[in-house]
Amino acid sequence: MPYQPGCADDDTLHEECGVFGVWNLPDAAAVTALGLHALQHRGQEATGIVSFDGARFHSHRGMGLVGDNFSDRRVIERLPGSIAIGHNRYATTGDTILRNVQPLYADFEFGGFAVAHNGNLTNAHVLRRALVRRGCLFQSTTDSEVFVHLIAISLYSTVVDRLIDALKQVVGAYSLVALSNEALMGVRDPLGVRPLILGRVGNEGTGGWVLASETCALDIVGADFVRDVEPGEIVVINDQGVHSIKPFGKARERFCVFEYIYFARPDSVMEGMPVYDARKRIGAELARESPVEADVVVPVPDSGVPAAMGYAGHSGIPFELGIIRNHYVGRTFIEPTDHIRHLGVKLKHSANKPVLEGKRVILVDDSIVRGTTSRKIVEMVRQAGAREVHMRISSPPTTHSCFYGIDTPERSKLLAASHTVEEMAELIGADSLAFISIDGLYRALGKDGRDPRRPHYCDACFTGDYPVPLPDQQDNAERQLSLLTAND
Ligand code: AMP
Repeated sequence: MPYQPGCADDDTLHEECGVFGVWNLPDAAAVTALGLHALQHRGQEATGIVSFDGARFHSHRGMGLVGDNFSDRRVIERLPGSIAIGHNRYATTGDTILRNVQPLYADFEFGGFAVAHNGNLTNAHVLRRALVRRGCLFQSTTDSEVFVHLIAISLYSTVVDRLIDALKQVVGAYSLVALSNEALMGVRDPLGVRPLILGRVGNEGTGGWVLASETCALDIVGADFVRDVEPGEIVVINDQGVHSIKPFGKARERFCVFEYIYFARPDSVMEGMPVYDARKRIGAELARESPVEADVVVPVPDSGVPAAMGYAGHSGIPFELGIIRNHYVGRTFIEPTDHIRHLGVKLKHSANKPVLEGKRVILVDDSIVRGTTSRKIVEMVRQAGAREVHMRISSPPTTHSCFYGIDTPERSKLLAASHTVEEMAELIGADSLAFISIDGLYRALGKDGRDPRRPHYCDACFTGDYPVPLPDQQDNAERQLSLLTAND
């Protein structure tokens, strides 16, 4: 799809990604490939690594999985150095072209600069238009390129000052890892919507440093968790160690609650809370809020498993693997058309008949987006002989699109945006359907409930309360309005 400013379905608005960075470790590109491999769930469409050998930068970017691109030793050998950053990209619609694959790299007067980005800038289109008017020549359609141009035209002299200058102009939810001749840098947006953590290999002074989207990438590279990068913090890592800069005013944190519900790997710890525990607690709260008499609790694998364990634990109803997942197909979400997505669900899941036959089944999944998965799964479970099918969802109804880096379709395609829970139950063919309440979700995560004046998380997809402004959306609406008026 050609670049369309502000279009809700273009590829620049759909980037769920994983980022990873290494400072001072032998074979940094190989270490980065391992880290990206552990972060594969955050993006399966394309991947890339840029390394620095002390004199020159080297890069390799390609479509597909980390293993498809970096398992060949010769590729890694072409990425020498003890410093590197990498990126996994997940974009579900629009063109995927190699020039959009990150890390992005540019040569500046101060040297080379590479950047990899997880999240979304919500004023990328507005900024891009202004930059193009100033003569900037964009090479890609990814919003991350805005950073490169803002850094290029900044009047500050050091890389870090130029980066701060750029960050002060962007609006959005983002985690960045960036690399210059002098330092590895990690940045989290002022509200800390997207995650980023710091890890260490060996001892301070002698060892190396790691930045990653999630803690699950630390073990595989032999790193220890040090801490979360704080909201609004820039960490600058060089031979002197880790230096922290906080260029933004203090803001109340709004970490993405959907990371706990679905997106993060269950063995990651986010903001001090193990994701696995969080999901089990959400499942238990769901059982407390929406009990139903049944014979078995069955997860929709894999994402529904911990919540189903929590539901079963609280309700005392046995947990059974009534649906088996084939691990050799990607997430159904990746499929571009509704028709293929329908088939994809069948490719991915199959019914474990002996567990389901004649039973009253509670199915637990993490979310209903378009409703495609639930409809197919309910049908499959009935065909396997279930007597009753009760669907329980470990998130509140997804009523709003995410503009902060989680892929959700436009609002009109979200089932919960236009249907009541009863209508949804009928559409997916379930005997009953219940979602966890927003208050229940907060309670499960250790908060009293959602205080509307001081919500702790970004929960915009469930509440429509968007904590980061959306200038591109507003600009797009205004442009459409002026087009309409011009046509009158
Ligand atoms: P749907 O079939 O459109 O209702 O999508 C719901 C299913 O997609 C659930 O089983 C989720 O596990 C999964 N899902 C929810 N959000 C996302 C997302 N942002 N990216 C990929 N998969 C998702």
